[in-house]
Amino acid sequence: MDFLSLPTTAPIISRLAPTPSGYLHLGNAVNFVLTWLLTRRTGGTLHLRIDDLDRQRLRPAYLDNIFQTIEWLGLDYDHGPSGPEDFERHYSQLHHLSEYQQVLNELRQVPGLLYACHCSRTDIQRAGGHHPDATCQAQRLPLDTPATAWRAHVPNGLAIKFQDQWQQHTAVLLAADMGDFVVRKKDGVAAYQIASVVDDVRLGTTFIVRGLDLLPSTAAQLWLAGHVESTASFTHVQFAHHALLPGADGEKLSKSTQASTQRGIMAEAGSPRVVYAAVARLLGLPEAAGESLAALQAA
Ligand SMILES: [Zn+2]
Repeated sequence: MDFLSLPTTAPIISRLAPTPSGYLHLGNAVNFVLTWLLTRRTGGTLHLRIDDLDRQRLRPAYLDNIFQTIEWLGLDYDHGPSGPEDFERHYSQLHHLSEYQQVLNELRQVPGLLYACHCSRTDIQRAGGHHPDATCQAQRLPLDTPATAWRAHVPNGLAIKFQDQWQQHTAVLLAADMGDFVVRKKDGVAAYQIASVVDDVRLGTTFIVRGLDLLPSTAAQLWLAGHVESTASFTHVQFAHHALLPGADGEKLSKSTQASTQRGIMAEAGSPRVVYAAVARLLGLPEAAGESLAALQAA
């Protein structure tokens, strides 16, 4: 299916959702352009929402880089922080901790869904990098045990199926791909999957454009959100997962190239034309379509 002719007749509500834990790389920039293109084509609304719950990895330079990269790409958005100071003051996820907690409180009422886990990183490494799900679940520690994380128990063999707007029918084997994932960290703060869903529900997001590497996260979020009323609307969100980027020679860029956060795409590319050329390749358009944003929009 052609991304630019997706059957989205109604104006969508979407968002750019970076994390200030590194400089934005080519994959992030391409995702921004795709999201922007689709939103503007439908006459929709675009939010900037920044995932900053992982405060330990946040650096002011990374936060600055988000705003600089959006400007460098020539993109705009309709709602969200105007800059780092406005972000910290009015938009940080720290302002929404009680909303995340409320959803966690609802989820813990669902019989058999959550359990407490006291595994350390070393425990998980010893188990071959996978959380030894059965062990913690069998211990049935009370959820309020200090210094425990909360995990969601994913039933064996559970397949999450949904209609992806780019990949067609998609099925994710959630237990195999995600295992029993963390929904509340040991410090008592909601984990990424919860915060992301709650933020999208608050913004009224109707369409999310993501890289295929986030497919397991999408499945986890759809499954989790369906358990309680306050996040049920998330199960109606439409998704388009884009392939990871082919390089100029048609080869897939290596993960390390794609996700390099050493300097970020702004410093590495010099010109946003590199990003637009990558977008054109991803859309199967002639390279020349990537010469300008206007040409891409008209393609
Ligand atoms: Zn555990």
